[in-house]
Amino acid sequence: MRDVFLDLVLGGRCVGCGRPGRALCRACEDGLPEGPHPAWPTPPPAGLAMPWAAAPYAGTVREMVVAHKERRVFALRRPLARLLAGAVRPLASGPVILVPVPSRPGTSRARGHDPTYALTRAAGRLLRIEGYAVAAARLLASRGGVADQAGLDAAARASNLAGSMCCPSDGVRRLSGRRLRVVVCDDVLTTGATAREAQRALEAAGLEVAGIAAVAATQRRVRTVSSHRDSSGLRLSSLGDND
Ligand SMILES: [Zn+2]
Repeated sequence: MRDVFLDLVLGGRCVGCGRPGRALCRACEDGLPEGPHPAWPTPPPAGLAMPWAAAPYAGTVREMVVAHKERRVFALRRPLARLLAGAVRPLASGPVILVPVPSRPGTSRARGHDPTYALTRAAGRLLRIEGYAVAAARLLASRGGVADQAGLDAAARASNLAGSMCCPSDGVRRLSGRRLRVVVCDDVLTTGATAREAQRALEAAGLEVAGIAAVAATQRRVRTVSSHRDSSGLRLSSLGDND
């Protein structure tokens, strides 16, 4: 009844199965992955802190991320935050600050919200309810001048991002002298270049980065298609060499 009503009023559909009603139906929510997994990109950026992801970036989770980010389907924030909280849990052995990767200047303005920050804050709230000493803080800023990452391969992403983030001093000064571990939070882990740049900027400000937590991580590519290019323009033969 409630779902039918919501569909009539809002025209809502489940992003997973298309069933009219809420943005994520009970069945699709129950089908979300349970435990996080280590999510090393292939190849991993040198020095990347331990990355954890709650799910592969595919299927319902992918639809959820895109709908929340691009179409502002805020009803998905809670289930997405639950996934992100799951990826933080293995890294939360002491007091932890969750730091969202910053969106490019202008991007959150254009979208009207900052989805990664919103998810990070919500994940922090969920973990505090469970008794973890966790807080979210926007310690990173983007310097601008960074091109859209879509369509760039791993090397191009890394050089596009090098030096692109910084830690404005007032946020960090409040934390100095405390024994805090920082967890970098993002929605999707792809090549790891964004997370690595966030880690570099935090470490340059004297903070210890315990790891990376993401809602989802793109899957390693398989070598059997090594002579082709996938739709994002990545040369598949350059990936998966560590298999
Ligand atoms: Zn569904």
